[in-house]
Amino acid sequence: MQFSLSSRDKIISKLSEDHFDLLVIGGGITGCGIALDAALRGMKVALVEKADFASGTSSRSTKLIHGGLRYLKQLEFKLVRDVGSERAIVFRNARHIVIPEKMLLPIIKNGSLGKGPTSLALWVYDYLAGVKKEEMRKMLSKEETLKEEPLLNKEKVTAGGIYYEYRTDDSRLVIELAKSAVSHGALCLNYAEVDALIYDNSKIACGAKIKDTLTGENFDIRATKIVNAAGPFVDLIRKTDQSLYGKRLQLTKGVHIVFPYEKLPLQRAAYFDVSDGRMIFAIPRDGITYVGTTDTVYNQDIDHPHTSLHDVEYLLKAVNEMFPSISLSAGDVISSWAGLRPLIYEDGKSPSELSRKDEIIVSPSGLLSIAGGKLTGYRLMAKKIVDLVAKDLLSEAKNFPASSTQTYQLSGGEFQSDEDLQEFLTGIVADVANQYLPNYFLHRWVFRYGRNTTQILEHAEALRTRFSDSEHVALAAEINYSYENEMIVDETDFAIRRTGMIYFDKIRLDRNLTFIHHYFNDLLYRSYAEKGVALKRFAEAVKEVTDFK
Ligand SMILES: Cc1cc2nc3c(=O)[nH]c(=O)nc-3n(C[C@H](O)[C@H](O)[C@H](O)COP(=O)(O)OP(=O)(O)OC[C@H]3O[C@@H](n4cnc5c(N)ncnc54)[C@H](O)[C@@H]3O)c2cc1C
Repeated sequence: MQFSLSSRDKIISKLSEDHFDLLVIGGGITGCGIALDAALRGMKVALVEKADFASGTSSRSTKLIHGGLRYLKQLEFKLVRDVGSERAIVFRNARHIVIPEKMLLPIIKNGSLGKGPTSLALWVYDYLAGVKKEEMRKMLSKEETLKEEPLLNKEKVTAGGIYYEYRTDDSRLVIELAKSAVSHGALCLNYAEVDALIYDNSKIACGAKIKDTLTGENFDIRATKIVNAAGPFVDLIRKTDQSLYGKRLQLTKGVHIVFPYEKLPLQRAAYFDVSDGRMIFAIPRDGITYVGTTDTVYNQDIDHPHTSLHDVEYLLKAVNEMFPSISLSAGDVISSWAGLRPLIYEDGKSPSELSRKDEIIVSPSGLLSIAGGKLTGYRLMAKKIVDLVAKDLLSEAKNFPASSTQTYQLSGGEFQSDEDLQEFLTGIVADVANQYLPNYFLHRWVFRYGRNTTQILEHAEALRTRFSDSEHVALAAEINYSYENEMIVDETDFAIRRTGMIYFDKIRLDRNLTFIHHYFNDLLYRSYAEKGVALKRFAEAVKEVTDFK
């Protein structure tokens, strides 16, 4: 079935009529990873997400597929090894959205590590994470470090190291997973909230009551197994299941702030010490530089984590100390995002000390809850929990094969090598048929949609004569693709979770906002009232990322 708002009614009918092997609650990286793993094994899968896909933590991370360098400090060697090898797998399977990035680690006077220990730590990291030879760490003198990044504080820096991180677009990774799961038969629906679980006579969870949050209507989904992958909301579902005892979540908030590149023109991404003993990233990318993150205990509204002025001041202080010639102020921040880490509570530990390991909790009703973990480790988490589901389904005389996600390339990521990806990009840029489109979009699309870019180009060709401005043709083509294939309901989903424009391309977004609103109004045949609702929702989303209280 088409993964589109236009198929929503049909999807809801099927969800309420059929019986599923597995119902997944939550459309973040964890839930969508699980849906794909299960669908590839041949299970009949349903997934519901109460807002948009990736609208929870999975669009609010540092956007790195990392080898977990910081876990070395906590001596979590197995975690470093697991995420390191996973990083290589995610890279092979989604090359278009997982890009190797050299990271500079400046060593500073009175910092957390000297040059010798840093060199050793990076060596251990390379070894444990199975880092490729050409990406192994390189230690630098003070002069070499300052040459890599002249804006660094010359008084503080004593040396440096280079190692590799892989940057990604977290919400694109989620959507490519969802699209892949759907292409293997899973039914995945956003704006569909689990209100309550349904139990059989033996008090085993066998379904859920769902509220369609777009219409307010209700329907039921029946399934043999239910997995709770609700991220920061995992304990709320466990509470509904009356099984919230023993292990619990501890939420911590992490904030990132965005500057125009000209305001923080770093040559290289950097991971550096802050005076309180923590470390933060500053990452230049696509015309902006973002800085993060914070790590503070969070007990407020889970639906709306917000960047506070205090968060902004903390990050500004850190960045101004490390890059003193820049003198950034709150007025330079053009966007931000705040996310909640769903960590497992441990007595007496500070937010930064809490383990990032994942945990599966099995309740007496058979509900499986999964929490903790990282974006990077989503595939292993999915494999682990779907193995449990498969084991349970054996009692129904259903025998499913082992996970096949290790070598499965995600939607758009069907490239054999970097050269293959480069050749695809060069072909698209060089094709005379595409010359009327701004080069900028051609590049963006390849690193956003991979091979699916060809479908956007087909839309662009069909729209070419409709708009005189080529930027409008490109945006309309991208919206059409997103509407037909990525289950957007409006411009808010498009600008935040499908394109990241609200963070990475805010100036282009602002410039084309009226066009985008009008295009959506026409595409969705909106009434006057519906136009107002869409505008209000968009304005609230902008306020959330730009208003720091
Ligand atoms: C600041 C920060 C930086 C990070 N940086 C990195 C990084 O660089 N690399 C990395 O590997 N990891 C990183 N992480 C960790 C990573 O982002 C998370 O581990 C991961 O995104 C969690 O995904 P999830 O699917 O479990 O949760 P979520 O993404 O929150 O998904 C859960 C979903 O469940 C939905 N839901 C909740 N209740 C219901 C209901 N009743 N019915 C239906 N749906 C429901 C929610 O709407 C939500 O979308 C970072 C985390 C934070 C906070």
